Amino acid sequence: MKAHVDKDTCIGCGLCPGIAPDVFEMDDDGKAVVTVDEVPDGSEDAAKEAEDSCPTNAISTEE
Ligand code: SF4
Repeated sequence: MKAHVDKDTCIGCGLCPGIAPDVFEMDDDGKAVVTVDEVPDGSEDAAKEAEDSCPTNAISTEE
């Protein structure tokens, strides 16, 4: 699975690194960034939860 953050849409709420710390972190610009090319198997559910939880729908995932 791959994950992507649209930085233009992200409002920097900090939710996604809290839900899936192995996939997302907050960048120096205060926006979330994906830290992995491929989401680790054990973090796929968390990545999807982050996608569903993002208040601005800035996160997308694809298999
Ligand atoms: S949950 Fe959405 S708005 Fe919040 S930091 Fe992550 S990508 Fe940005």
